[in-house]
Amino acid sequence: MPSSLLETSACPPALNAQDVAQALAEARAARDRAAFDAGRHHALRAWHSPAAGADARAEAGVLLSFCLYRLGELPGLLELGTQTLALLQAPQHGPWRDDLLRWVTLGACELGRFELALACAQECCARARASDEPRRQVPALTALGACFERMGDPWQAERLMGDALAIARVHGTPFDRMQTLSNLCAVTIGAYYLLRGVAGEADVQAVLQRSLAYAREAVQIASEAADAAFDAVIWGNLGEVLVHLGQAEEAWEWLTAALLRALEGGHQAQACRIRCTVAELHLQAGRHAQAAAALGRLLQESNPGITATLVRVHHGLYRALRALGDDRGALQHFECYAQIERRRAINQLQSQSQLLVTRVEVEQARVQAERLRREALAERQRADEFESRALRDALTGLGNRRQLDRSLPGMLDQAVRGGGPMALAMLDVDHFKGVNDRFGHALGDRVLVALAQMLREHIRSEDVAVRIGGEEFLLVLPGTGAEAALEVCERLRRQVAGHDWSALAPGFSGVTVSIGLAHAPPYERQSLFEQADRALYWAKGEGRNRVKLA
Ligand code: GH3
Ligand code: MG
Ligand code: MG
Repeated sequence: MPSSLLETSACPPALNAQDVAQALAEARAARDRAAFDAGRHHALRAWHSPAAGADARAEAGVLLSFCLYRLGELPGLLELGTQTLALLQAPQHGPWRDDLLRWVTLGACELGRFELALACAQECCARARASDEPRRQVPALTALGACFERMGDPWQAERLMGDALAIARVHGTPFDRMQTLSNLCAVTIGAYYLLRGVAGEADVQAVLQRSLAYAREAVQIASEAADAAFDAVIWGNLGEVLVHLGQAEEAWEWLTAALLRALEGGHQAQACRIRCTVAELHLQAGRHAQAAAALGRLLQESNPGITATLVRVHHGLYRALRALGDDRGALQHFECYAQIERRRAINQLQSQSQLLVTRVEVEQARVQAERLRREALAERQRADEFESRALRDALTGLGNRRQLDRSLPGMLDQAVRGGGPMALAMLDVDHFKGVNDRFGHALGDRVLVALAQMLREHIRSEDVAVRIGGEEFLLVLPGTGAEAALEVCERLRRQVAGHDWSALAPGFSGVTVSIGLAHAPPYERQSLFEQADRALYWAKGEGRNRVKLA
């Protein structure tokens, strides 16, 4: 196997589309009869073929990943699996994606690539939660649990897998239950390895008893389901627990049967694990030389790719060689053991801190997004305010001429479309110059403000009142005919004339307005203004304090 599956030297001759389909069919068949070497060979041919379409390439990647997973070729699995995941985006590839996420999770765990493992497991869990099949959470939670187990926290793993088991008991198949139980067994054995020699005997026994219960139930289901594929794992687990419980005889039976199954099935990683457990059995029985030889062979002939097994091999060799008085050899293996453990601990800390950083980054991004949103909102408000100031008369708060230019065309359009009437009234304060002259400009201002307030109170919400010049105002009254407009303006004129102006200054009175009124149709701005202007001029000419209709 080349170090990278994608090296060009690894590329077999190109296939045509028909060959690709054939290669995939052969890969599938090989997978189904657990011939993973052959499966890998055929899947790899399809994978490398330029003739493979998107679906074929995706399937080739999935088949190849599975074979690599089962062959324990984990670096290849991660390389190919992550590339294949990128191809599995379409909804119809969902089930493949779920499977592949799990295999990559487990492979990444074994290689100490915990960030990748956690990312895949979490995606898997999220996908399962989002689906309406509770059953899908079983393998997903189990995979997430496996991450924690490999990171050194079998207790969190047992909780997650316990959740998975509870779901499997209600929604799962016997196979789901069996697999979850088998994983729970492995996890609790892991807890035992951490606790032994450190924790109190009661705690150690408690964890082994839980492990035994999981193993027994899994074996029971396996025997009912007659599922040979998992016998190697389940029997191996049971044997391992029994070894630690000191039940050597029964352990030996399960372990030998399991080893046979593992070798038949080509499950190298599992075979290593079982052989390691067998060596443990020798150690317990005081057969130190036999244990050392078995473990030494294991280390030589097939470097156990599984870190967890490698740790056990070195630890076993350390104990065996120490018992045999080979202190130098024992120390060497102890150092290997300690180094792997230290690396695992470092990986764990790094991925945890990476996770933490990621969480902090997410939080920062959220805060930043919120700040940007608030800034955009404030900017928007400033712009709105600026615009509204530009359209408003500073003294009276009414709209100004610019506001009129903005609203009048729309109002005219609407009137044209509706064909209804519309009135436009031009209002001018009578002898305002005299007001300023006699009472001061400031009082003149207050008169304008008071008038503006009267206009506001006088008009409906759909009407518009603006200050178009010094002491001139304009009213636009949509939907109002000449008669009604005349009435409105007359009422306004009377209100102004009858107002008690002395509140503004003692002795001040006699503010009046003249109003020139125009009406549409015709709906033409220019002519409406001219008519209103003329009517206003007429009202002034007639003696002021009156309303004239053009
Ligand atoms: P008429 O009845 O013919 O309209 O007489 P008038 O004095 O109102 O007419 P004219 O247009 O000659 O005078 C308008 C005055 O309004 C001139 C100006 O001093 C005053 N004016 C214009 N804008 C303001 C303002 O913002 N505040 C004050 N206090 N006075 C203003
Ligand atoms: Mg004027
Ligand atoms: Mg005036």
